[in-house]
Amino acid sequence: MDSRVQRIVAGLNPQQLEAVTHSGAPLLVVAGAGSGKTRVLTSRIGYLIASGRAAPGQILAITFTNKAAREMRERLESALGGSAIRTMWVSTFHSACVRILRSEHDALGMRSTFTIYDAQDAQRLMKLVCREENIDIRAHPPKSLSRRVSDLKNDLVTPEQAADDAADQDSQVLAHAYAAYQIRLRQANAMDFDDLIMSTVDVLRSHPDVADHYRRRFRHILVDEYQDTNRAQYELVRALTGTAEDDNHGELTVVGDADQSIYAFRGATIRNIEDFEKDFPEARTILLEQNYRSTQSILSAANGIIANNSGRRPKRLWTDRGDGEKIVGYVADSEADESAFVVSEIDRLRDDAGISYGDVAVFYRTNAQSRAVEDMFVRSGIPYRVIGGTRFYERREIKDALAYLHAIVNRDDTVSIRRILNMPKRGLGAKSEEAVAMHAARWDVSFGAALCDVGDPHPERGPVSGIGKKASATMAGFVSMLESGREMAEAGAAPDAILDFAMEESGYLDMLRSSDDPQDESRLENLAELHSVAVDFHKANPDATLADWLDQVSLVSDADQLADGDEGEVTLMTVHTAKGLEFPVVFVTGLEDGTFPHMRSLIDPAELAEERRLAYVAVTRARQRLYITRAAARASWGAPQEFPPSRFIEEIPDSLIDWRRSESSADAMRRSGGRTGTWGSGGRRRSESFGGGYGDELDDGPVVGSGKGFVPGKLGVDAAKQKRRGKQAG
Ligand code: ATP
Ligand code: MG
Repeated sequence: MDSRVQRIVAGLNPQQLEAVTHSGAPLLVVAGAGSGKTRVLTSRIGYLIASGRAAPGQILAITFTNKAAREMRERLESALGGSAIRTMWVSTFHSACVRILRSEHDALGMRSTFTIYDAQDAQRLMKLVCREENIDIRAHPPKSLSRRVSDLKNDLVTPEQAADDAADQDSQVLAHAYAAYQIRLRQANAMDFDDLIMSTVDVLRSHPDVADHYRRRFRHILVDEYQDTNRAQYELVRALTGTAEDDNHGELTVVGDADQSIYAFRGATIRNIEDFEKDFPEARTILLEQNYRSTQSILSAANGIIANNSGRRPKRLWTDRGDGEKIVGYVADSEADESAFVVSEIDRLRDDAGISYGDVAVFYRTNAQSRAVEDMFVRSGIPYRVIGGTRFYERREIKDALAYLHAIVNRDDTVSIRRILNMPKRGLGAKSEEAVAMHAARWDVSFGAALCDVGDPHPERGPVSGIGKKASATMAGFVSMLESGREMAEAGAAPDAILDFAMEESGYLDMLRSSDDPQDESRLENLAELHSVAVDFHKANPDATLADWLDQVSLVSDADQLADGDEGEVTLMTVHTAKGLEFPVVFVTGLEDGTFPHMRSLIDPAELAEERRLAYVAVTRARQRLYITRAAARASWGAPQEFPPSRFIEEIPDSLIDWRRSESSADAMRRSGGRTGTWGSGGRRRSESFGGGYGDELDDGPVVGSGKGFVPGKLGVDAAKQKRRGKQAG
């Protein structure tokens, strides 16, 4: 056997080995957390290449985050040698689709310069659509329309189908908004995240030659976290793999765990994993049962929780790592006390057990909960970083700067152009903007094209009426500034140079520099950070264009903020972001009925089952030590409210738990009036904790990969920016 092959398969258990070396029929690996599914996927790729069964260019591997893609790539690089894998595609669904769409844009009828709209941009566009179409936004908020359109796209429902299916007035409005939104999106030469998948499926289905091209190319398609794929992603995989009847069908490998499906709110369906054998009748299924991650106590706790979900395939996960430490439980009076316990325990572990800060993760159900934990970290001076929350790329100044660049690359990008038209203030009023919009509607062209008509009227369309002399001159200046940026880009200028040009020339930097608002100071710092991201990108990818950089930035997700090598900091994140990760020490906080499980799930069995899977994911991230904590009362809308203990705590066999402070001792304490609670003292401003919709509180980061084969430069920028060192802040 080739020594590389030997190294790759060394240490695998018999089932893992079987999965790694399997050949032919579609392969499904289903197994519980920590059983080596991701490792099997990585080893299988290594094996295929090292054994000569596949060339790197014939492989397409799909991971859930860019970070996971990067790690897989690095593992393979060290196993196979760097240059061997350059032509291999390892990326998220979204980046793989961007790559396909950038080369197949003709088939799609779009220009290759299309812009990718994030959820915020999509909502802005929906708002414009509502205004144009006279949709009552009180009855149909753009945000909710936007989310429902996303659901439809995840199910591959076209606007026409949505209209056909619309049985009531509400769905008719939705279908109408959807159709108008799609037209505006196309006119802006833009795609939203869901379009990326849906359009790729579309192209592959409607252009057999294109489908054939990719099927010939990708002989092996491998998908991690298959339980979290939605209908559109499923169809994409099918279209890329082909079926047994197709001449050129590839080999498909998917790995997943139905118990870890936690993205139903984004249209993920466990059906994809449950029906795999039905969809692919010749499929082979392999089960893995040995867990290599956690101690037996942790596994037993996880099993205790997930066993309460009905209709699942029971699993027998075992480990040879021994019982390990007992699970530590703590019932605090308030969220401040809960955080104080977490912080003191981390310090104790460091002193007594040789645990470093980087070994520790603190999980919570929703982003808003991080506030209480952060307060305590700041006070105690423990270094930490928060993953998620307001993302770097969603900050106002960053969105503004990127809007300039998008407008430069894509002159039809309505959302970006309207965002920056009067930012910084150029004295352009809503009336002038409306006049341009009317001109655009009248001639059925994009806002950007109409804007050009202001200073340089199109021979057919003529000038834009209703705009004063001064506004005309300002608009013409704006257009010509973007044009200069475009010329720079076309001449191959580096992304950071074009960014500098846009920020200086537009007066954006001057606006911030001359402001006394301390917030503007930090906005400048953020822009400086963006600038270094651009510089790093250019260094890592000297041949890449401004558009390439924008693609990469557009697809960054929360989980990607987890830069490697941050050994000296405790990681704070939601459970959703923690998927696929592992930590020696894990704190699962806020275990109350109404917090985790989330309030909204308490009356809906399907949602409760999803919360339970989320709890299963949380617990199974721990390798050596697991803490479960809760607060008897938690501030809600500013006033403390009592919550009962989470049912998930009660589902863990009590013999596994070492209660440092139990329900009964907390009760006794409260009855005697000797409460240790400090709520109110931490300056709680928690009204945001119940705001927004379901998906908002979750980490719904779409995603990216190493599109175009470039090495993602410094995607960890969010983490860098969000590093809020306790010492500094306190
Ligand atoms: P999750 O369901 O959480 O995604 P997973 O099934 O993908 O988990 P991995 O992350 O691949 O599991 O593996 C869990 C841990 O076990 C990793 O640290 C991995 O390196 C280790 N591991 C997997 N297989 C083996 C093995 N055969 N020998 C030793 N360690 C292993
Ligand atoms: Mg995994």
